[in-house]
Amino acid sequence: MPHFDLFFKTEDLRQRLEPHLRLIPPYFQFTVRTGTPDVRFFDQKDPMWKGFPFPVPKGTVYVFDDAIPARALGGGMHMRASVRVTREDRDDEAIVLRIWHEILHAIGQPADDMARRAGEWQSVSERVMWAAWQSLSRPLDVPFWHRKFYVWLTERAESGAGGR
Ligand SMILES: [Zn+2]
Repeated sequence: MPHFDLFFKTEDLRQRLEPHLRLIPPYFQFTVRTGTPDVRFFDQKDPMWKGFPFPVPKGTVYVFDDAIPARALGGGMHMRASVRVTREDRDDEAIVLRIWHEILHAIGQPADDMARRAGEWQSVSERVMWAAWQSLSRPLDVPFWHRKFYVWLTERAESGAGGR
């Protein structure tokens, strides 16, 4: 089971988000901390990743706020992930889904492939609902679907199916 030291930059972030971590299946194990891990910054010439702090130690997740002037909302790879919480973020569960998304990346699961792999993870009834949402032009990139896809990806990881 993958284990992460999960750092919340501030006590506020921790108190707000830690109660929602149970959304993430127990396959992922966390040691929750307050503070900032050792971080590095990606290519400062890339506007998307400019100023985005990323953990150095393996098995580390960093959740930070807009006091850090980053642009990307999250990144994850090689057993490391960072997630930004913006001032506009009101839905705490959606933020925890963002953490789940990035740690799936961190363990090599294709977390961006929800639509492309719809045929693999959806039940028959979900397929019907998905098609109905599409025909109504309802956005599909929403917590309702993210959660189902991430459950499937987590079970996939648990069963030993590798990343990309
Ligand atoms: Zn992603």
